[in-house]
Amino acid sequence: MGKKKKPKPRKTFIEGMDSYCDEYKYWKKRTDIIKRLVGIFEVSEEVFGLELKKLVVAVGLDGYQPLFYNAEHDNTIRSDGPISGTGCAVALRNVYGNVVPAVFVREGVASVGEADEQPGETHPQFADSIRLLVLFHELGHADDISKGLNYDHDKLIIDLAAAEAYAHDFVCRQCMKNSYPLLMSQYLENVERMAKSTVDAERVGAERFLQSGDSDRFREWLKERQSKEGFERFLRQSGRVDEIQRRNS
Ligand SMILES: [Zn+2]
Repeated sequence: MGKKKKPKPRKTFIEGMDSYCDEYKYWKKRTDIIKRLVGIFEVSEEVFGLELKKLVVAVGLDGYQPLFYNAEHDNTIRSDGPISGTGCAVALRNVYGNVVPAVFVREGVASVGEADEQPGETHPQFADSIRLLVLFHELGHADDISKGLNYDHDKLIIDLAAAEAYAHDFVCRQCMKNSYPLLMSQYLENVERMAKSTVDAERVGAERFLQSGDSDRFREWLKERQSKEGFERFLRQSGRVDEIQRRNS
């Protein structure tokens, strides 16, 4: 896919001051964070709705064969929860016979509607954070595909519960690494909702993740980072204390 330019380094992100729109644009270019990732493709709703073989061709990946996996639960590729319903990660076999991941994100992702919302009601600030969460979630699956952890590329079997738990974990790890506490709490809320779902494919992964010790670790980080002391420590470390003072005066 040509030579990749190294993305510019960023200032440390501060929620409420910096825009998730910029963060999303930044991470969309970071195809380098997953080994052998063919690309991150943002496609129109129409293209996103195509069957997988046609979707792959539509973004110019002729010569790549999409792989289809069997799971212990019904694994319809676009039915795994409100966040994943707007993106997908697929495994492709390239001309050399290697299995490589690709990520697709649907353009114009709006906020996940709350029950009391009117249809079509959107919140731009939430839309940006949801787009980023969708991207991280699918990059988590791409990482899994690349490492062949919960996807068996020979038997074409996926351990769906483990794969979803892995993607949830990946999102939270990214939020922690890049200091996106609000984004993480938004995601954890979503996972808790999924854990109550009647759709097996959605529920089992969420349950597995929430029962893991890792989700406790993320909550502890969240608590620390959202405390007054934790936030001040973060500001000092990121060298943006002056900026905060200027905006507050
Ligand atoms: Zn998923």
